[in-house]
Amino acid sequence: MALPELKEFCRPQSAAELSSVFETYADGALFVAGGTFVHGLEARGLLSGVQALVDLRRMGLDTVSADDRGWRVGATVNFTRLGKMPGIDAPAFGALRDALACPPPQIRNMATIGGSIAASVPFFDVPAALLALDAVVITGTGVASRELPLAGVYTGLFTNSLAPGEYISSVFVPRPAARTASAYLKLETNANDLALIGVAVRVTMDASRRISDPRVVLGGGLNATHIRSAAAEAVLKGATASEELFQRAAEAIGTEIKPMSDHRCSAEYRAAMGKVYVRRALQRAIDRLV
Ligand SMILES: Cc1cc2nc3c(=O)[nH]c(=O)nc-3n(C[C@H](O)[C@H](O)[C@H](O)COP(=O)(O)OP(=O)(O)OC[C@H]3O[C@@H](n4cnc5c(N)ncnc54)[C@H](O)[C@@H]3O)c2cc1C
Repeated sequence: MALPELKEFCRPQSAAELSSVFETYADGALFVAGGTFVHGLEARGLLSGVQALVDLRRMGLDTVSADDRGWRVGATVNFTRLGKMPGIDAPAFGALRDALACPPPQIRNMATIGGSIAASVPFFDVPAALLALDAVVITGTGVASRELPLAGVYTGLFTNSLAPGEYISSVFVPRPAARTASAYLKLETNANDLALIGVAVRVTMDASRRISDPRVVLGGGLNATHIRSAAAEAVLKGATASEELFQRAAEAIGTEIKPMSDHRCSAEYRAAMGKVYVRRALQRAIDRLV
């Protein structure tokens, strides 16, 4: 059995109830939302120390709201619902639409925005898109809450800055500026594969094709965590959109990535294809604006 020490499956309905579970089990308690990642851990025998599974889906974290500032999406909103967020058809949300289309429908119906972020897997698609959109994570515990930029959540491969018992309660996606577009591109070995390379970009472009406030986010094993490429963004900022510019921005990631070698491909292949995908993602975003 893959959960030899499991004593309780808890379904708290309030922060106070939730924190009492962590008081009892401390590090032995594990959150579960859609369960698609947790199931994989269990199947691989990686949950041996878990004494309590804490299901977040009765905590009332499944709402979506929008105002002038942006969208607030509850942590247990699944990918299918996220794909129906008001205004998601806008060019600015292209990266999110692209990323949400990656997993198979069965996973989209179960996987949650909070679980996708908290798993801290650089090969996941949706966090890359959310990073390009400057998403902010709102967390809670029994006693306090805090806001942190998504970029500040990841600390390493499969690790994050959430404290034990701290859960993501919602994600805020700021309303993008006018004439903004984004795109996400994934390289995979087959339709069920996680990203060998995942690149999300966002650009705002004026009528004379000048780019402002660019984002270039690299995932899928180009680094141990999703990262923003400051070098690529510096090349793009204030420059006029062109194929030659996108090539220069793509080359610029070379100084920042630490690509992995694994059973799926080498670091050299990731480095080379990462540049190709940055260039193509930028072109795809621009194509959404013209
Ligand atoms: C067959 C298959 C195909 C897939 N294909 C893709 C793909 O193409 N692209 C892609 O990006 N992903 C893919 N995935 C991964 C999928 O996106 C993730 O498993 C999913 O996003 C995790 O969300 P969840 O709600 O199921 O999380 P869970 O499995 O419930 O939890 C994930 C982790 O986050 C923690 N957690 C969950 N919710 C919270 C919260 N609110 N606050 C704090 N911690 C929390 C849990 O303790 C656990 O460590 C695939 C998965 C499978 C099984």
